Amino acid sequence: MIVLKFGGTSVGTAESLANVKKIVEGLDDNAVVVVSALGGLTDRLISTANKAASGDGSYTEDFRQMAERHYNIIDNVVEKELAPSTKDKISPLLDELRRLYDGVNLIADLPERTLAQIVSLGERMSSVIVADMIPAARHADSLKLVKTEKWFDKNIASTRLTEQLLREELSKGPYPIVMGGFISADKDSGEITNLGRGGSDYTAALVAAALDADVLQIWTDVDGFLTADPRVVPAAKVIDEMSFVESMDLCTFGAKVIYPPTIYPVFHKNIPIRILNTHRPQAPGTLISDRTPDPESTVVGVSALKNESLITLRGHYASDGKAVSGRAFNALSRKGLTPHLVAQSESLNSFSFAIATSEVAQAIRMLKEEFAPELVDSSLEVIEMICGLATLAAVGDNIKRSPAMSGRLGAALESEGIEIFAMTDKASNSCLSFVIREEEVNHALTLLHKRLFE
Ligand code: ADP
Ligand code: ASP
Ligand code: MG
Repeated sequence: MIVLKFGGTSVGTAESLANVKKIVEGLDDNAVVVVSALGGLTDRLISTANKAASGDGSYTEDFRQMAERHYNIIDNVVEKELAPSTKDKISPLLDELRRLYDGVNLIADLPERTLAQIVSLGERMSSVIVADMIPAARHADSLKLVKTEKWFDKNIASTRLTEQLLREELSKGPYPIVMGGFISADKDSGEITNLGRGGSDYTAALVAAALDADVLQIWTDVDGFLTADPRVVPAAKVIDEMSFVESMDLCTFGAKVIYPPTIYPVFHKNIPIRILNTHRPQAPGTLISDRTPDPESTVVGVSALKNESLITLRGHYASDGKAVSGRAFNALSRKGLTPHLVAQSESLNSFSFAIATSEVAQAIRMLKEEFAPELVDSSLEVIEMICGLATLAAVGDNIKRSPAMSGRLGAALESEGIEIFAMTDKASNSCLSFVIREEEVNHALTLLHKRLFE
């Protein structure tokens, strides 16, 4: 069994959809195909919803263009005799979308659940089109199979229930089966939800894990996982092989090629992932598996996370890094907040971590509550923060065997005048990270890439 995921970059045009058809029809194995919305559509669905809610009447023209795009694609990819029946399936979905837009326009508001219903139409439509484009394929309804539950203010996959539903529905043929990625429904209310932007990768991983697939193939628009974001570092090269942990670190620190939670379900079941290029299917891509690291390579790639802030706790209590980090991270996790990097400086009695800027206000509130006794007796003097930062990461399983690496990379950054606000002080895991100014991040990535790979 193979699970294939085609992203928006693979299903954006009739030409790339023709490649998808060829790839799926050329398979010898049973396959489940997970697809995203047509390229760029999710952004468009959201911006049009905002227009409608704000009273901008041009939402009707946006809607018309989106409808036309879907009908054109059907005419170009679905066999002539089948196209009318595909249009009959898409037309009620477009009616639903139009009614939703008119509704938010009327009430001049865009509730979160309504937005979730609006964006779901992207994958609900694309999956029907792709299923009909491949005459042997059948369609499966992701809203019935992928269930979420509330975790703080987020919707997260109900993994047990989802695994059971996916297994019941997908382990029997006929194959191939096509379903939409990203979209889901709340396990209790049935309300439409989703797995977060970029979440089709995660849907595919849940399917692969549920079916004990032999491999999860992520088809996209680049030749594999690259040593850096190619839009920032054009010299980035394909990484032939990497470990699950390396890919997880790079994705957590901003490598957009895979949505971070994707790795867990397949890692857990030791199902390898292959990243492949829909536009160049002959390229070998990148294999992500439980490989033991190549002793020759230290760093496999670099990545960066923008919109970060640094929170620092100062005072003599902060020198007890274990106690402070344990309590701080516990307090943050009670609100579902996720800090990224830990840097402790015993001599300066400070303890710092990076966190998404959107989570800062809530994080500070939680920390003030948690450390109220220490703030009162002055064993902690202040909790301070700096915004406008980015976290830069160099990742490789062998980094822990190269104690000089963090000093070397830090010195390279400082030699170009890039100020380091915090860095992991010990290479205790597979990732070295540096907090720097956001406006310097592209320069820093280019610099580290040059030192490490060129
Ligand atoms: P899809 O629609 O296939 O899900 P995405 O846009 O989500 O595509 O992800 C693929 C894009 O990720 C590539 O086009 C590339 O520009 C970007 N990217 C960022 N970092 C990396 C990286 N380290 N390796 C490969 N691609 C990367
Ligand atoms: N269509 C969704 C998005 O653009 C999900 C995905 O593409 O993975 O975020
Ligand atoms: Mg993606």
